[in-house]
Amino acid sequence: MPPRAQNAWLRTLGALAALLAAAVVVGLLIGQVWPVLAITALGIVIWHYWRLRGVLTRLTARQRLSPPQGEGIWNELDRLLYRGQDEMRGRKRRLVDMLRAYRAAAAALPDAVVVVERNSQRVQWFNEAATTLLGLEYPRDIGAPIGDRLHSLPMSRWLAQGRNAEPLMDAPSPVSAETRINMRLIPYSEELWLLVARDVSKLMRLEQVRRDFVANVSHELRTPLTVIHGYLEMLDPAEKPEWAPMLTEMQRQSQRMTQLVEDLLTLSRLEAQDRLPDESVAMSPMMTTLKREAEALSQHRHQIAVEDDTQLDLWGSTKELHSAFSNLVSNAVRYTPAGGSIGIRFERDGDGAVLRVSDSGYGIPAAHLPRITERFYRVSTSRTRESGGTGLGLSIVKHVLNLHQARLEIQSEVGRGSTFSCHFGAERVHPRDHAAPLFAAGK
Ligand code: ADP
Repeated sequence: MPPRAQNAWLRTLGALAALLAAAVVVGLLIGQVWPVLAITALGIVIWHYWRLRGVLTRLTARQRLSPPQGEGIWNELDRLLYRGQDEMRGRKRRLVDMLRAYRAAAAALPDAVVVVERNSQRVQWFNEAATTLLGLEYPRDIGAPIGDRLHSLPMSRWLAQGRNAEPLMDAPSPVSAETRINMRLIPYSEELWLLVARDVSKLMRLEQVRRDFVANVSHELRTPLTVIHGYLEMLDPAEKPEWAPMLTEMQRQSQRMTQLVEDLLTLSRLEAQDRLPDESVAMSPMMTTLKREAEALSQHRHQIAVEDDTQLDLWGSTKELHSAFSNLVSNAVRYTPAGGSIGIRFERDGDGAVLRVSDSGYGIPAAHLPRITERFYRVSTSRTRESGGTGLGLSIVKHVLNLHQARLEIQSEVGRGSTFSCHFGAERVHPRDHAAPLFAAGK
């Protein structure tokens, strides 16, 4: 027992003993010891009962206790209760302040924040920015199903993916189609999800400016390059033999620049499209064309194998798919030393199909693989230059595949070779139509 409580206890005992002693003395004086003692004991019991009742009443009424004055166990008990209540109130006040501060911070965020109840997908809370960005209204939309409120966005399909939901990168805001938003779903507890929407209109405009700039510059460079290239072709090194090495290098570089401009234009064109025409892509002639291109590039330096026994064709854009596959084939030839082998295979892949381009070439170190499809990303600049690449080939492949909802998988081992696989889903394949017109790529 703490010393203070011990003292109170002893003091109460002392007071009790003094009272009983006084009762005995008074009893002796009037010659009635037992009755006086009994009355005093009864009085003591009633008093204690009265204090106990007071404590119980105060506790059950949940009233705010006032700081007790005086000594004794009842006052000590009151003091302890008062202290407990005071501490509890302090803690509650701090918690409420903290909660207010968090709410104020979330409310002041420039991003729209919506707390969604996971099972019912109903709105529990949202901040001010959710009104300007998503058009949610307080108090109308508290408790409303989020899918109904944001029906212009693909909410139900997106929410159904739960934890695996990829951010919606660029969607029109339900308030104004001019405003572009990026939305993320953060499942922060078992019951609650946080939906965060950010205004990315400025970023999208900048991205558009960048795209337009690249497309315009590439377009403007095309004509002067064609002229330079044309004149260079006309110059005959035999007339001035000492200029021959310079002329050859100039022709090589102008060829490279032309290719770069063409690749940049292809990328700009692909970026500007949301979807491509869905035509039947005849894979048998496509494979023949790819083989012919590989052989032309290889000049008998490699063994080239082509396999195609799927009896399937694809849905998509023949022109763009040819450009993607042909980039992979060209890479396989350019990054495989003479004597190596190259395989171009079209196979079934579950319900879909896969086109694989494999080589026994230099391979790519694993550290480079995650970034290999970025524009101008190169593993070894010198080797790429030698190979005549532009650094844009795999970006084009990735864009074309994205537009076909297909996936690029890269397996590579340094010194052993690489395999680039383009996986197409079931919705992109159909049984081969033997009467299809012959594919004429590159024309
Ligand atoms: P590039 O025009 O430089 O070939 P790509 O985008 O096609 O540009 O390829 C990017 C880089 O990936 C290349 O510079 C090369 O280092 C590497 N790469 C691509 N394909 C292969 C391959 N089949 N084998 C080894 N490295 C490759």
